[in-house]
Amino acid sequence: MKRLSPNKRTLGYYGIIAASLAVAIVAGWTALASQINDYAYDWMFRLFPPAATKPHSIILAIDDATFSAMGGVREYRRMLAKALELLAPAHPKVVGIDVVLADKEDAVEDDRLERAMQGTKNLVLVAHLKQADRRWEDPLDRFARWAAGIGHDAADENSHDGVTRQIPLEKRIGKTRHWALALEAFRLARGVTILESEDDLQLGNESIPAARTAEGNRTLRVLFRQQPIPQVSLKELSEKPELADRFTGQVAFVGVTSFSASPDRVKTPYGLMMPGVETHAQLLETLEGAKFLKSTGNLTELAFCLLTGVLAALIFGLLSGWPAYLSALFLLIGATTGPFVLFRMGFVFPYFSTLASAWLTVAAAASYQHFVVRRALRNSETERKRYQQAIHFVTHEMRTPLTAIQGSSEMMGRYNLSEEKRKQMSEMINQESKRLARMIQTFLDVERLSDGQMELKREQFTVREVVEACLARVRPIGDRKSIRIRAEAIEGGLAGDRELLEYAVYNLLTNAVKYSGPETEITVVCIPQGDRLRLSVQDQGVGMDAKELRQIFQKFYRTKRAEASGEAGTGIGLSIVEEIVQHHGGRMEVTSEPGKGSCFTMVLPAVLRASRPPTVSV
Ligand code: ADP
Repeated sequence: MKRLSPNKRTLGYYGIIAASLAVAIVAGWTALASQINDYAYDWMFRLFPPAATKPHSIILAIDDATFSAMGGVREYRRMLAKALELLAPAHPKVVGIDVVLADKEDAVEDDRLERAMQGTKNLVLVAHLKQADRRWEDPLDRFARWAAGIGHDAADENSHDGVTRQIPLEKRIGKTRHWALALEAFRLARGVTILESEDDLQLGNESIPAARTAEGNRTLRVLFRQQPIPQVSLKELSEKPELADRFTGQVAFVGVTSFSASPDRVKTPYGLMMPGVETHAQLLETLEGAKFLKSTGNLTELAFCLLTGVLAALIFGLLSGWPAYLSALFLLIGATTGPFVLFRMGFVFPYFSTLASAWLTVAAAASYQHFVVRRALRNSETERKRYQQAIHFVTHEMRTPLTAIQGSSEMMGRYNLSEEKRKQMSEMINQESKRLARMIQTFLDVERLSDGQMELKREQFTVREVVEACLARVRPIGDRKSIRIRAEAIEGGLAGDRELLEYAVYNLLTNAVKYSGPETEITVVCIPQGDRLRLSVQDQGVGMDAKELRQIFQKFYRTKRAEASGEAGTGIGLSIVEEIVQHHGGRMEVTSEPGKGSCFTMVLPAVLRASRPPTVSV
């Protein structure tokens, strides 16, 4: 029976867990994983939306009503000029215009707009990144000169599903870099400068954790508020100029909110569409809120996955049964809810790799232990059976010598025997008890051998010595059935455990005698063939058919013919013979025909070139 050694089992166990951990980590890099991470993020976002705070920004919206009242998209410049004129008396902290002003248009309107800009404090304009030809669409110089800052209007272009979760605070094309429109507005509102390091941006006493990425961006997750940013329509403001009060001390963003007029809109984690200008305002609120969602780094992610794997391995390595399953359940609950807890604490943790590493390693550890434990149970059951049958075998085999010893000793004690008879009997007692001792030794040796506990002895001897010793013991049994036992050419030498090999040969011989009729012949022959020796025992007995032949080396198997022969047997002898032969690097070969006889051959590695002995004939 093949059994995994404890070391191999442990190695297999940890190997399987390591492999499933590796699969989870590698799968965490796939596009599918990042999509799942994003979905989980949106879900958490909806579950724990940012707390409501007093807004710092307000939108002056060029909405559908404004368009119908003040003209179509060709009237932007006029609308913007009007907007700035209306805002001027309210003194907003900053005015950000989310309309690209890169082209020259109607000179009169441009003059008016420029004049309005001139009168606007802390004006921020946008530069638009033309992705196709990788250049900035900057505002015309005449406008730019009145701007206190120029920011970009890019959204989340890395998003796979069109949802804007983060915005690059910094954008570079060649040598020109622009901060985000909202960041410029925030800087001016605070009246500070931006100090940058690799890991963050410092604005006054506020530090923004936006590390520079490989692409030269610094992305920041936008904490979209559930409450909309306050809005005033330009049409409304022009009709009621007193509404301008609402802009006082606030950061005003002027932009198009009409979805029919402008494609500038983004999708938020809430699943809503939001005009671009409102997204800038949302980013400004995020900056004002000074509470940021930080992404945990790759190393933390890896460490967490490893920790999950180690915990799963320990749980199923050290515990078993329900304590193991219960602890695994806690681990899974921890891994499933962990990212939510971290999210509440302001950390965004990739959901997929956390879940995948926990579930995969737990599943691997649990199923490995389940199957190994099941196999161990099966093994111990077979082991128990084997043990029982072994006891049966021992008691059966020992009965003969014990009966002889018992009978002789009784006779010696009870009768007055002649000195010669006494000597004969004590000689027999001595021999039978030696045989008993040898049998016990052989049995124990074979048990230890098949358990892998015993090293084979490596002595050298000739096959002849072994065969002759066996013949001497078998002949008296053969004589009882008038079976002639002939030893033909017995050649060659062997290396190994002489006792065990003798046991094997003896077993083949006694089987041959047991399963042969009277007046038949048994032939023993040993001839070298290449580097092997073929030691055969041929009989003219009951034989076996092909189906029976396939099973005779199984422990406790006996053919019907053997049962019918009335010969005692346990069906264990041949399995021991095969075990012994295999431990000596050899194999068994059997040919047989029902009613005609069988030939059992031990094919063993030859070692000694023994001189050719004379044929022994009996
Ligand atoms: P046992 O002889 O105690 O039954 P073995 O393991 O030695 O057990 O043999 C297993 C079975 O193989 C025997 O019961 C018998 O059916 C068959 N067998 C073994 N040797 C011979 C043989 N020489 N001729 C016919 N059948 C044999």
